[in-house]
Amino acid sequence: MNKNCLSAQVEKLEIENFCMFESIIGLEIHVELKTKSKMFCGCAADFFGKEPNSHCCPVCLGLPGALPVPNKKAIEWCVMLGMALDCQIPEFSKFDRKNYFYPDLPKGYQISQYDQPLCINGKLKITLPDGKEKIIKIRRVHLEEDTGKLLHAEINGKKSTLIDFNRSGVPLVEIVTEPDIRSSEEARIFLKKLHQIIRYLSISDADMEKGSMRLEPNISLREIKNQKSPASPSEAGRAKIKIDEELPKYKVEVKNINSFAFAKKAIDFEIKRQSELLSKGETPQQETRGWNEKQQMTTSQRSKEEAHDYRYFPEPDIPPICWNKETLNKLRKNLPPLPDNIIKKLIKTYKLSLYDSTIIADNSAVADYFEKCVSLAKNIPAKTIANWLINKKIDIKNLSPDNLVKKIAQSQQDSGITDDELYKIIRNIIQNYPKAVSDYKSGKESALMFLVGMVMREVKNSSLADKIKLIIKEQLS
Ligand code: ADP
Ligand code: MG
Ligand code: ZN
Repeated sequence: MNKNCLSAQVEKLEIENFCMFESIIGLEIHVELKTKSKMFCGCAADFFGKEPNSHCCPVCLGLPGALPVPNKKAIEWCVMLGMALDCQIPEFSKFDRKNYFYPDLPKGYQISQYDQPLCINGKLKITLPDGKEKIIKIRRVHLEEDTGKLLHAEINGKKSTLIDFNRSGVPLVEIVTEPDIRSSEEARIFLKKLHQIIRYLSISDADMEKGSMRLEPNISLREIKNQKSPASPSEAGRAKIKIDEELPKYKVEVKNINSFAFAKKAIDFEIKRQSELLSKGETPQQETRGWNEKQQMTTSQRSKEEAHDYRYFPEPDIPPICWNKETLNKLRKNLPPLPDNIIKKLIKTYKLSLYDSTIIADNSAVADYFEKCVSLAKNIPAKTIANWLINKKIDIKNLSPDNLVKKIAQSQQDSGITDDELYKIIRNIIQNYPKAVSDYKSGKESALMFLVGMVMREVKNSSLADKIKLIIKEQLS
């Protein structure tokens, strides 16, 4: 391989003998469910900030003879997440033991799911920055238990490791994508959307800082083979570049990342590190790495284990799960509306723009609040309520919808005109002065001031000038 190798994230440049790489990324995401009790025992699952080892019992401490009893709610929530991700829910599913020896799991194995997970073959559609849509396939969504937490400390001058088992046995969902992601930006967009869906379903806080959502990107680079160097960068983009569709023989997994920003940085770092190795003719090692935020780099942790290292076998203490159609239908019926549905509804019912709708729908509580306000408000356009919510940082927890509506009405009264009336006047002016409109659209700023002036002649309230300018701009965009 020659030196002129670039990663596919780098602009496609015009170079002799050119060859480059595209990044192949698959994500594994762990999410702690906010069920009342743990996955296989009655201990409370809300362990965060609690006194160490205060939420434990013989089951989650792995004491001999203790038997696990699966948490129904956790199973249902995992399936609901799978449904939200368009997965198939096989009629039959089971738990398996994943054996490994590390003191964070007292049993010497983790109850997880191996070859028959609760949910398989899903997909999530994301919108890329250029507006194009892309499907990321979901390989599986399965249920397992979280581990205890190790704390490495120095006690009386001696290096010691402390263990807190409060987290041991908390229900944990793992979502695994196909390696369909091609850049750190795509990964970020996917993760944000997944995070939003999880929050909409109210099955987890998905709080990254508390570790209730943890990210593991898998990254490898694949050579893009090209016979001929392109005449120009744009031609390189257009030319049908032949890609070797096989996956690279190696992959690097970056473990346990607790922020979207770190995940993006870790992926970009790996793309650069691996492309440098490949350009020298070396193959990156298949291994597990960690993100070091201080040093802004990934560092090697261990060489990657294989499935057989875990000696999986079916969990003998838990009967397999067999679904009947009615139960699954009931769960499906109980799915709340998801962000994409809400965005569509906001556009259709309230005539909001895609941009406004996306912001309002970011959080289901804000979307609910918006709809309550609209239903309470008379003479206030939905658009005005959306503007207030988006631009004025309304604290929806401490201001009731009713009070926000009153506040908006008051502010309209103070200005002597309702938004409804103001919008009407502006639309009229825009219709009556097509020349100024076309001047503005071709870049003449003064035409905008002319239109504002014409509206002001009717409104006669100088305090509204900025608002009028904003509305005209928005109407003409
Ligand atoms: P493992 O058994 O090592 O965990 P899997 O095949 O189960 O590996 O895949 C785990 C994750 O790695 C999935 O998200 C998958 O999409 C991704 N993945 C698989 N092969 C590659 C690859 N060559 N490059 C990047 N990601 C990959
Ligand atoms: Mg893995
Ligand atoms: Zn317990």
